[in-house]
Amino acid sequence: MGFCINCGNQHHDGVRFCRFCGTGQPSEQLLARLRAEAEQIRLLRMQMQQQNNQQNDAYARLETMRQQAEAAARLNNQQNQNYRPPGW
Ligand SMILES: [Zn+2]
Repeated sequence: MGFCINCGNQHHDGVRFCRFCGTGQPSEQLLARLRAEAEQIRLLRMQMQQQNNQQNDAYARLETMRQQAEAAARLNNQQNQNYRPPGW
């Protein structure tokens, strides 16, 4: 099934003229090429999205590590501040 490029009514694949408005329709070859192109664009988008997700994952891991390091440093500081040398 396809849609008329002029009036938008649905028609069967392979018709050369719209039965509603009579507009000539793109050939099957052109449609096939457009479909292949659309599929390629879709795949590219998916790949880009996956790359983005991987990058976000890496950032999230880095952020977690940074927070852990910060918490460890804070804990260290507190222990140092509580520490009093004997005899004072
Ligand atoms: Zn039409």
